[in-house]
Amino acid sequence: MQYHFNGFGAGDPSLFPAVEGAGKKRSEVGVLIVGCGPAGLTLAAQLSAFPDIATHIVERKSGPLEIGQADGIACRSMEMFEAFGFAEKVLKEAYWVNKTTFWRPGPDSARIVRADRIQDVEDDLSEMPHTILSQARIHDFYLEVMGNSPGRLVPDYNLQLTELTRAGDEDIPVKAAFEGLNGREPETIRARYVAGVTAPAAQSVARWATGWKGRPRASYGVSWTSWR
Ligand SMILES: Cc1cc2nc3c(=O)[nH]c(=O)nc-3n(C[C@H](O)[C@H](O)[C@H](O)COP(=O)(O)OP(=O)(O)OC[C@H]3O[C@@H](n4cnc5c(N)ncnc54)[C@H](O)[C@@H]3O)c2cc1C
Repeated sequence: MQYHFNGFGAGDPSLFPAVEGAGKKRSEVGVLIVGCGPAGLTLAAQLSAFPDIATHIVERKSGPLEIGQADGIACRSMEMFEAFGFAEKVLKEAYWVNKTTFWRPGPDSARIVRADRIQDVEDDLSEMPHTILSQARIHDFYLEVMGNSPGRLVPDYNLQLTELTRAGDEDIPVKAAFEGLNGREPETIRARYVAGVTAPAAQSVARWATGWKGRPRASYGVSWTSWR
């Protein structure tokens, strides 16, 4: 049973009341996030809960991801989605990997035979299952959280970060230059913090921030650099 401490309020509780200026584009922001991959969207969704932090997220692609590759979702990621409030949607749409089957060549090598079938997630590892769902759907859920947040945060597409410089202002010290793609004009955004979330974007941020010209180490996964 759930109790409504201040009485029941009609409407969708996941849609927060918009703050003044919600959804409006600003040329000066608190946190500028570069890249709408899983890492950038996770950070953006988290920050969108705090309307006092002016957050902006840019992406060089022209719109939301349509086909991704990170479709396998570990139990820990599911737990994180629970914290963002959309694990139930993933549970409903996803394939649950409850068992894993191993195959090997049969005795006559003419066909494969089932060698083993094991439980996929060990007991007591998590209350969440290991699942598979299109990465694009996960991005949709993050975008929904951001769009329903008090600041109505939406990604700014068709902008590719090309340069970071120091603006000489202690309060908003970073100037980020963007090339406009698909007919967009180039743009400059001033920021207090920049988070280049993703291997390529973080490396770009790190290179531009430090003047490092070296070849980035091959790595992927979540790596992010903030520069202030
Ligand atoms: C074949 C393959 C299969 C995988 N399978 C899985 C899986 O099953 N499960 C799993 O969890 N992970 C999987 N991964 C790993 C997963 O895809 C990555 O860990 C994840 O995408 C990293 O997220 P990210 O946000 O750091 O970077 P990315 O997903 O690379 O996102 C970076 C974003 O930044 C944008 N960007 C980059 N540079 C700029 C710039 N200069 N200006 C503006 N925008 C920029 C890019 O367009 C992109 O949208 C797989 C990876 C591959 C290659």
